[in-house]
Amino acid sequence: MNGAERADTDGYQYAEVAVPVHVSSTFIYRLSISMRQLAQAGSRIVVPLGRKFVTGYIVALRENLRPGTSLQESDIKEAREILDAVPLVTPELLELTRWVAEYYLAPWGEVIRAALPPGISPTIDPFLSITERGRTELSGFPSNQTPTIKLRLLNLVGKSQEISLATVSNEFGDLQAMKLARALEEDGLVEIRQRSGTAFVKAKFQRRVRLVKTNQTPGDEPGRKLTEAQLRVIEALKAQDSLALPELLARANVSSSSVSTLQKRQMVEVFEVRLRRDPLGNAPFEPHLDYELTKDQEQVLAELDPPLRARAYAPFLLHGVTGSGKTEVYIRAMRVALSLGRSALMLVPEIALTPVFSRRLRMHFGDRVAIFHSSLSRGERFDEWTRVRNGDARIVIGTRSAVFAPVKDLGLVIVDEEHESTYRQQDSPHYNGRDTAIVRAQKESAIVILGSATPSLESFHNASTGKYHYLRLPNRLGNRPMAAAEIVDMREVFARYQKPRIFSDELLQAIEEARQKKEQSIILLNRRGYSSFVLCRSCGESVQCPNCDVTLTYHRSERVIICHYCNHREAAPLKCPSCEGKYIYYVGEGTQQIEEQLKKLFPSLRIARIDRDTSSRRGAFERSLMDFGEGKIDMLVGTQILAKGHDFPNVTLVGVISVDAGMALPDFRAAERTFQLLTQVAGRAGRGFRVGKVLIQTYHPYHYALRHASAQDYVGFYEEEIRHRQNHTYPPFVALASLLVHGADLARVKSEAVELRKELDRANPERAARILGPAPAPLARLKGEYRVQLLIKCRNRRELRKIIDEALKALNERKINLRSINVEIDPVSIM
Ligand code: ADP
Ligand code: ZN
Repeated sequence: MNGAERADTDGYQYAEVAVPVHVSSTFIYRLSISMRQLAQAGSRIVVPLGRKFVTGYIVALRENLRPGTSLQESDIKEAREILDAVPLVTPELLELTRWVAEYYLAPWGEVIRAALPPGISPTIDPFLSITERGRTELSGFPSNQTPTIKLRLLNLVGKSQEISLATVSNEFGDLQAMKLARALEEDGLVEIRQRSGTAFVKAKFQRRVRLVKTNQTPGDEPGRKLTEAQLRVIEALKAQDSLALPELLARANVSSSSVSTLQKRQMVEVFEVRLRRDPLGNAPFEPHLDYELTKDQEQVLAELDPPLRARAYAPFLLHGVTGSGKTEVYIRAMRVALSLGRSALMLVPEIALTPVFSRRLRMHFGDRVAIFHSSLSRGERFDEWTRVRNGDARIVIGTRSAVFAPVKDLGLVIVDEEHESTYRQQDSPHYNGRDTAIVRAQKESAIVILGSATPSLESFHNASTGKYHYLRLPNRLGNRPMAAAEIVDMREVFARYQKPRIFSDELLQAIEEARQKKEQSIILLNRRGYSSFVLCRSCGESVQCPNCDVTLTYHRSERVIICHYCNHREAAPLKCPSCEGKYIYYVGEGTQQIEEQLKKLFPSLRIARIDRDTSSRRGAFERSLMDFGEGKIDMLVGTQILAKGHDFPNVTLVGVISVDAGMALPDFRAAERTFQLLTQVAGRAGRGFRVGKVLIQTYHPYHYALRHASAQDYVGFYEEEIRHRQNHTYPPFVALASLLVHGADLARVKSEAVELRKELDRANPERAARILGPAPAPLARLKGEYRVQLLIKCRNRRELRKIIDEALKALNERKINLRSINVEIDPVSIM
């Protein structure tokens, strides 16, 4: 029963450690006697690796070296230091990150690091607090008996609301304090909670002032009457519990010396409180009314309810057009999860979407909502993470990496817009947030809802084979009609004018109509910048990025040409860099140019542009959207970022300048992407009571993705596309992996790719997998590196991973650096 005693005898000798470096295996380290008592799976540990020390994560503890391994006692190095007294990584997350590492062939240590908030301090100081049970235990103890050492500690903890482990250690010694605290926690008498440490990310404090007494008491020096300024301070504090110091100074219009004088005279008290860095700090908490759910919404919820209550894993695909009430369903399901004492996790595809959703969640759930995404400050991220780890926040909303949020008792996982490619992490570790979310739900017996108006082919396929339960919200709320989409054949426009034009007459006319009716419009283009490339009329050369295999894009506002992959920039040329000819011209249109031309054509319209250039500043994107929502802007011009998740009732026109570039990409998902984009963007029109209009300009009017998108016919598109996938053996009919060899030296990249192919063939003697390549990747050069690609298709997913794993291990043994090989399992794009 006594945890402290047990720890003495149990002391594991060895720790298995995952380190965040590019190797797939874990390492074994010896633990010193004192470390043995502290070591727990999930804690960070400093270990020697090569000539350096690195911080790794304990993934398991061992009593013996595994029998049968070639490891000798003498090979084993000793660990240096254990950083966490309370494991940073929960058992659930150890399990999930292990799955990610195995499935995506990524180093486990790298996955764990990606799962933790960045910049976390090397030491995390835990705090102890007494529980209800602890208090009962204390009060039941006969006062005439000498207390045990455990009870003495309990008593110490009971004296304050919270006490740091460091403080306890002063009295009991480091190891003893930790052991006792653990034992008390096991008995349910105290709670151990994380607090921020001292180094990188710190807890933030605020100085506040409160009134102690309003009048001078007889003890005060007579004759020292309060000054005008001091009286104003007291006046300002009277109505308040307390005020933040800066605010008080502003309100009373005094300098801080007035406050410190009052403090000396013990009339006011200055104290510190821990501040939570709240990413939504300035968001208004609007009151909300509960809608009466529609029949469809009721039905969907009725299906979600039983497995949620039964604590059983159940996957759902919620297929509903934009505006059909999906988000309302999510909120109701979250409420059920909370009422069961469980937590909910919601993933959204874009940072830009989190403010929209988190506001809505805040209205319903207040402080229980935590927000996870990469544009929060490190401090904010750490604070939010801590609130979740401690169980204070039970609803998490965030982008991809929020799938690793340390929520307790997960009941509900939502992946909104599940088809979005942003769920796939582009850098190592290459995991897919959606698929990881499904696995997490499975491991933690939660239900998972994949929501989309245009489900990915894979998910719809899974629903049609019965792997997912299929839920449908077929209608828009209030039965508003979907906007009719018209395809504008730009070949006709070309024939009419005998030259290419950006805007068809149809589109210009529709904009004019919207303008006259004072309705709003959205103009979408898939390309930021001013024009897509710079061409010389004399020699026909285009200006290329020196590092990448792409042309540079002209940005007129700064008069520079920019590479959108590596961000290389140079001044826009006045003459052709290759032939010195001076007839340079610009081909293709970017968002900047479209915006400029529309401003010329419609001077009375208030037009704003939204794309990655304007939205890189935090808040700028949100502000434009808010202004648009409030009618301060008439037209938004932008890239596909505009197609997602916003609800503007006064938008009646959506114009798509051109979709052709996207359809022509050498990627098996090009048609699916185009269909999704157009369907989503069409969903932006006519969200209110007016009928919407969608115009799509194209040179390929008969492409099946366009036809089905303009008819808003998902199933029609699915059936046609799934046949293509089957005929060409692409996912979901095979598992696919892409192996990209990259490096600055082309000859070496090529020879490594050839060696890789040889090893893959050797690992594939039965020819279970089909291996394609090596061949230059569609983007053959990027950021100064050459890229050569191999694709592997296999009907058996496990077999696929085994073949790749074996080949990589063989290469590693031959001392070929695996850093130059990028492995992607289930790539979302093969560009
Ligand atoms: P989706 O997520 O499918 O786009 P939302 O849940 O955001 O749909 O609903 C669209 C709009 O309709 C929102 O403004 C929402 O507040 C409102 N809404 C949702 N459910 C109802 C309902 N049952 N009755 C009335 N309005 C609703
Ligand atoms: Zn470049």
